[in-house]
Amino acid sequence: MKISIIGAGYVGLVTGACFSELGNTVICVDNDLKKIRKLKKNIIPIYEPGLEELIRKNVKKKRLYFSSSIKEAVDKTEVIFIAVGTPSLGNGEPDLTGIENVASQIAKNLKNYRLIVEKSTVPVETGEWVKRTIKINNKYNVDFDVASNPEFLREGSAIYDFMHPDRIVIGVESERAKNILLKLYQPIKAPILITDIKSAELIKHASNSFLATKISFINAIAQICEKTGADIVKVAEGIGLDRRIGKDFLKAGAGYGGACLPKDLDAFISIAEKAGYNFELLKVVKKINEEQKKSIIKKISDSLWILKGKTIGILGLTFKPNTDDIRNSISLEIITELKKEGVYIKTYDPKAGFKVKKIFKDIKLCFEPYAVAKNSDCLLIMTEWEEFKNLNFSKIKKIMKQPLIIDGRNMFEPEKLKSLGFRYIGVGR
Ligand code: NAD
Repeated sequence: MKISIIGAGYVGLVTGACFSELGNTVICVDNDLKKIRKLKKNIIPIYEPGLEELIRKNVKKKRLYFSSSIKEAVDKTEVIFIAVGTPSLGNGEPDLTGIENVASQIAKNLKNYRLIVEKSTVPVETGEWVKRTIKINNKYNVDFDVASNPEFLREGSAIYDFMHPDRIVIGVESERAKNILLKLYQPIKAPILITDIKSAELIKHASNSFLATKISFINAIAQICEKTGADIVKVAEGIGLDRRIGKDFLKAGAGYGGACLPKDLDAFISIAEKAGYNFELLKVVKKINEEQKKSIIKKISDSLWILKGKTIGILGLTFKPNTDDIRNSISLEIITELKKEGVYIKTYDPKAGFKVKKIFKDIKLCFEPYAVAKNSDCLLIMTEWEEFKNLNFSKIKKIMKQPLIIDGRNMFEPEKLKSLGFRYIGVGR
């Protein structure tokens, strides 16, 4: 099939690359001209494992193209996915101007039947607005369909997730739209759930809110573990072995961050509010997450007494491993707080160091973990990058100013580090 993806970001590029890998001809469109120029020169603007190879392969096979023209996408392709960003406006509501903008540009160029698919995470009823926007802006009164096909991939394993999803959700209101999407997804082996458009839209916000709830739940249990001497890792294992609960997303830590969970939770609270429902549960989920971040700062100040003038080394800046995405990363929030206290900060991250250095000009950017540890009063672990797993802690102990490790992701075994002479503080253990 001939398809286009509008918005060549973390979701759009992966979706485009994967659909082309499945044998379709794909045009990825973005209004960021620099990004398109880079992509045309084979420079991939984001880090996602396997993406560079997949894009290069499919460009070479002439199945994957890049463009800054929505007109080209509408003229040449039968299915148009909208995968632009829907960031938070700051008041909890998502900014949907990108969606409206793309819908009206599609409408202005629409001359034959096209299926327009929402891939971005959008509030329930956005499909109605997209339809209305296209009708108002289309001069030719062309027949078209709108569908919702929310994306559940995770950054860091996005290609695998796209190709092996737990489920594919397709929200449609015509047989024609349903059959096009079923044909497109036919090579992917996964349960397909066909719904109306509003239900599909709601599934995405409800799923992310549930995941955030699981994280805040286990973080709340971690607080009780800290106060009672129980071990959250064992407790989570014991809870997660119950198949009705499941072990995923029961890892206590510094809280959830990233481009999706915080904004989608906020959006869902505001969607519910507009619909006349006060979603108190989610408000508490958010509050627990805020407290969890603060508890990391408290662990640092409780362990170091006076923060002013101390050196803290931070390992990991991204919100999770295997990505260069720093949107809503808790590491960055912690850096902001520590800077206010007059702390000197050294950091290392395998993929995001330069991005963070652009934001915080006065932190020291290191190029390997031991340089971070050297002369630090505290080593703070914020992202579970694989390369941190095999650190030589005997060496780290020798080069730190004081042997203090605060493990915001419970990456390491407390007993092992304590036996090496560290003061080790994890989360909930
Ligand atoms: P992103 O910021 O990485 O990418 C969005 C892209 O859209 C950018 O390249 C931007 O330049 C482009 N864009 C914005 N307005 C445009 C316009 N008017 N015309 C053309 N291009 C435009 O965002 P993302 O992380 O890929 O997320 C996209 C959507 O997918 C969001 O709604 C997000 O919530 C959802 N989502 C994200 C993930 C994830 O893990 N990142 C997972 C599932 C769903």
